[in-house]
Amino acid sequence: MCGIVAYIGERKAYPILIKGLQRLEYRGYDSAGVALVNGSINSYKRMGKVKDLEEFVGDSSTDGTIGIGHTRWATHGEPNDTNAHPHTSMNGKFTLVHNGIIENYAHLKKELVNRGYDFKSETDTEVLVNFIENIYLEQKVDAELAVRVALSKVVGAYGLVISCADEKDKLIAARKGSPLVIGVGQNEYFLGSDASPIIEYTDQVIYMNDEDVAILTKEDLVLKNIQNDAQKPKIQKVELTIDEIDKGDYEHYMLKEIYEQPTSIMDTIRGRITMDKSKIFLGGINDEMQKLTTAKRIIIVACGTSWHAGMVGEYLFEEFARVPVEVEYASEFRYRNPVINSDDVLIAISQSGETADTLAAIKMAKEQGATIIGICNVVGSSIPRETHAGVYTHAGVEIGVASTKAFTSQVTALMMMAFTIGQKRGSLYDELYKQLINELTLVPEKIKTILEKTADIKDIASLYKDANNALYLGRGYLFPVALEGALKLKEISYIHAEGYPAAEMKHGPIALIDENMPVFVVATKDKSYEKIVSNIQEVKARNGKVIAVVTEGDTTIKKMADHVIEVPDCHEAIAPLLTVIPLQIISYHIAVLRGCDVDQPRNLAKSVTVE
Ligand code: GLU
Repeated sequence: MCGIVAYIGERKAYPILIKGLQRLEYRGYDSAGVALVNGSINSYKRMGKVKDLEEFVGDSSTDGTIGIGHTRWATHGEPNDTNAHPHTSMNGKFTLVHNGIIENYAHLKKELVNRGYDFKSETDTEVLVNFIENIYLEQKVDAELAVRVALSKVVGAYGLVISCADEKDKLIAARKGSPLVIGVGQNEYFLGSDASPIIEYTDQVIYMNDEDVAILTKEDLVLKNIQNDAQKPKIQKVELTIDEIDKGDYEHYMLKEIYEQPTSIMDTIRGRITMDKSKIFLGGINDEMQKLTTAKRIIIVACGTSWHAGMVGEYLFEEFARVPVEVEYASEFRYRNPVINSDDVLIAISQSGETADTLAAIKMAKEQGATIIGICNVVGSSIPRETHAGVYTHAGVEIGVASTKAFTSQVTALMMMAFTIGQKRGSLYDELYKQLINELTLVPEKIKTILEKTADIKDIASLYKDANNALYLGRGYLFPVALEGALKLKEISYIHAEGYPAAEMKHGPIALIDENMPVFVVATKDKSYEKIVSNIQEVKARNGKVIAVVTEGDTTIKKMADHVIEVPDCHEAIAPLLTVIPLQIISYHIAVLRGCDVDQPRNLAKSVTVE
């Protein structure tokens, strides 16, 4: 959510900032801006995409070897040129890019107005930059101290980079709650909200911790915390490669990521299942295995698509490990005063590992003595650093804002955990344990056969591209898949869609069904197959259009449904991994046919680092 990039060194900063902003654009894209330090500090900012900013800058002077840049995801104040970052303080002393929310901005603003400050924008960020300037001018301290004093009084979350007009040879960066990575080069430093704008230049990075403040000149880096205690910079090698963040020949990142799923699922499994497929070994949670196998309850916390993966997890853990499970929206859980015990295990799921609400839920449950396990994709992100143990999904970088491969990798990780814990608790007998492992290893090849049907699925998509509403139905393991299918459609095509447990349809949504209503039914062969066949009849009796995802060779549903998409046969617990693929492909094509911006859907951003 919002991308920050900055450079200090000997190269021209502007091209580095623009390229970096393009790489970060998936994090926010309602406006973009840069400030270049070159004698004076020149800011350019514009509502819209990075390409709009480039056009706006045109032939203007872009010299300078120090600069900061930002792509915004508005929280305070609509997306427009004035609210775009960077923001400069009233007397021109400081220029700031900021990710996050300053929660006590209204109070600070009032104080600043009383001191004669006036404001151009509606943002909380402009309050912060003026607050820093006010401390700097009134207390006659240097820029670094002004920043630290201000941040010690601020409530909220920030990742920020700031330049001071009186100390133009340096940049100051700070983080609390919103990620910042420092790239270390030869006589140069880079900053990014993640490593993607940095890896072209260096693979040596430092992940900043909460309350860290970095003071950077081109030759030197000083790392301390807000209280002025020195911090030892821990330089790590970043594993990301340029190829991973490139779209290649695909029209959209989302399509590329859909097609990557045979590989990404394999990468989640790799090294964790023995060659003879008899055993799963999850090194990341092995030390906590005792806690996991004796847990009285598992609480899964997540947001959005990860929450849907968590729902699949609930069915898996209850069936195979026989542990009671609750699946919670992190944002509700953290503010609800929930009952948490020391024999609870909390599993937090987040692609980015930075989701603000999930992170806060973890901190709360940890304080109350629960064991915390993470399932995250981004290595070195905040959540894995807060948890006792965890499983990385290793799905590779996910840039499409609508999550696809991260979801299937999360579900894969949950399956491996549930099967492992079930086997260790003695509730999953050996033969089934081995069958499930074998089935899991077959998933990548099975997904490939579904991907071969893309052209047919696209034809179905073209028939429903003008729908205003859609219903997604599923039962058991396939109910969370229905939820995820509906979410995909909403996110990228802006068609209103609802996911429902198929039987629950009778308690409300059935009233919506008419001949214009596409109803996507996920109905592969499982223990509730007969029941969902009846649900399909109920839809057809009301003239709804049924698009069913079925098991290969199904003839019963084929006779009733308007369209069927077949997926290979598998154990019902594995089916979410296969059945979600056609739903992702349908949503993708409907969105493209409607002319929607699939990779950057309106109002959304990847990596939700604000509450
Ligand atoms: N709260 C700030 C704003 O609305 C920063 C938002 C962001 O993280 O992009 O401008």
